[in-house]
Amino acid sequence: MLTGMQIAVIGGDARQLEIIRKLTELDAKLALIGFEQLDHAFTGAVKEKISEVDFSNIDAIILPVAGTNLEGQVETIFSNEKVVLTEDILSKTPEHCTIYSGISNSYLNGITEQTNKKLVQLFSRDDVAIYNSIPTVEGTLMMAIQHTDFTIHGSNVTVLGLGRCGMSIARAFHALGAKVKVGARKSEHLARITEMALTPFQLSNIETEVSGTDILINTIPQPIVNASVIAKLPAHTIVIDIASKPGGTDFRYAEKRGIKALLAPSLPGIVAPKTAGQILADVLSQLLSETEPDRKGNGK
Ligand code: NAP
Repeated sequence: MLTGMQIAVIGGDARQLEIIRKLTELDAKLALIGFEQLDHAFTGAVKEKISEVDFSNIDAIILPVAGTNLEGQVETIFSNEKVVLTEDILSKTPEHCTIYSGISNSYLNGITEQTNKKLVQLFSRDDVAIYNSIPTVEGTLMMAIQHTDFTIHGSNVTVLGLGRCGMSIARAFHALGAKVKVGARKSEHLARITEMALTPFQLSNIETEVSGTDILINTIPQPIVNASVIAKLPAHTIVIDIASKPGGTDFRYAEKRGIKALLAPSLPGIVAPKTAGQILADVLSQLLSETEPDRKGNGK
């Protein structure tokens, strides 16, 4: 149980609702910031403006998966209010206050370091990232189906990266009958791709390997699908880039060449917010209950 714990949940999409539900069930007290347009009320949770919250009592801050943008703004789909997390706000929180987000950036790293706060990035955990790859795959399949006039079965699919998402995506497209090749840079990844009965290629050969691709799926958060790669793609290729913003594709050049290239962020939050929220809620409730000794040690 999280009895006596005060948590600020700031912004986010429908995934946050599962987190709010679970934490209130566990008896935590929640300040919901950026939720004033949400009709639903949760017992033990109060909707507040960020300026109204007494951060000196807050044991934990839960941000959306993306954390903040580079100016500190938090995405709030249930509010028109501009919500910005600042160094000043964090400096008001107790020493033990921990910040939770999915991923981070230089801004969020900067304000947590300056205020000596612990930042937990849930997606750096393998278990969370692997569970989250399940709705990510379903979202990628949805995009491929919506944006093509041919079947996935029998099509040439190239996946870039064999990380937590790349592996799940490659396996799912293969299971649907696509001819899947996967680009990676590590020899153990190339071996794994072979073991999965897929076609491996070394990323240094990407320009030659992408010719003949019908669907190109990028999972690498680096500028990998650059102009020279796009120049080698057939005109009908669709590029689905799931890597975190800004993605790994030169979207400007793709548009110039008439190649359909889509940046596809937050797929779990779009196709399966309930499941994706439950994945985060489960791990958060476990992590928060483990912080109890810290809070007690700090006079709470
Ligand atoms: P991951 O397990 O870390 O995999 C990343 C892959 O990129 C690995 O194969 C890694 O290879 C490769 N890579 C990284 N830097 C590289 C470079 N400079 N050159 C070549 N390869 C490189 O991450 P993940 O969990 O699969 O997630 C992949 C991306 O998708 C992340 O940006 C994540 O934030 C995003 N994501 C998006 C959604 C969505 O809905 N759009 C959902 C989940 C995740 P090495 O092992 O060789 O480094």
